[in-house]
Amino acid sequence: MSTQRVAIVTGAARGIGAATAQRLAADGHAVAVLDLDESACAGAVETITAAGGRAIAVGCDVADAEQVEQAVARVAEELGAPTILVNNAGIIRDNLLFKMTEDDWDAVMNVHLKGAFLMTKAVQAFQTKEKYGRIVNLSSSSAQGNRGQANYSAAKAGMQGFTKTLALELGKFGITANAVAPGFIQTDMTAATAERIGMSFEDFIEASAKAIPVQRVGQPADIAATISFLCSEEAGFVSGQVIYVAGGPLD
Ligand code: NAP
Repeated sequence: MSTQRVAIVTGAARGIGAATAQRLAADGHAVAVLDLDESACAGAVETITAAGGRAIAVGCDVADAEQVEQAVARVAEELGAPTILVNNAGIIRDNLLFKMTEDDWDAVMNVHLKGAFLMTKAVQAFQTKEKYGRIVNLSSSSAQGNRGQANYSAAKAGMQGFTKTLALELGKFGITANAVAPGFIQTDMTAATAERIGMSFEDFIEASAKAIPVQRVGQPADIAATISFLCSEEAGFVSGQVIYVAGGPLD
């Protein structure tokens, strides 16, 4: 039986974040379901509590330093010191480079990179004190380059460097940091991509599945299962790694 910890999952109102929050709660952790809009977290919190887990909804823009400080302090007060952090909040503002605006660039950098930086800085204060921590950052197969995603692929490659540096700096405090880099996962985010390229989501899924070695697209639970392992006590010797969860090999 592993120790019950307090976990924060950002962008957890839906998609991969909601599945991860549910999985970590099922693993026995108390979970802060954090997202931009607190009321949007109600469904994810309800699912967890209905299954016998413990969760609270926390409204917070991860790109806003003051909101992050307040949100993490609230979690510590209501659930206890957070020692597990999943930096999952994300947005896309896709466009070919020549059409990409400065706002498209800044918005993506702010949520993914600045958001992960601010959240991690706030949470590591508790982790170092507790001499225990698990940090998982969401990268993407797009880190290797993806047409229409100059901003997003740069941010997701940045998440990998950020992760490795956290692993180097925080290891001596019993803290591990790893990145999970999903391939195609069936969520609202990939539905938005289908819309952008003018395909129905069903056709987009079918066409994408054909190009994936396991011949299917991923589900949020596929990512949640990998994150669950990286957040477990027994994963304490795995740190600074990028794990592609994409139904086939990527490096
Ligand atoms: P999603 O369904 O779009 O969910 C993302 C969540 O993040 C939403 O609930 C969103 O809130 C929240 N969010 C956005 N900006 C935020 C902010 N500033 N502060 C707090 N929360 C914020 O996306 P997903 O597909 O589950 O993706 C989750 C993560 O996995 C992202 O980092 C994404 O880049 C990564 N990923 C996804 C895929 C994929 O195929 N789906 C592949 C590789 C990597 P709102 O609803 O209010 O906007």
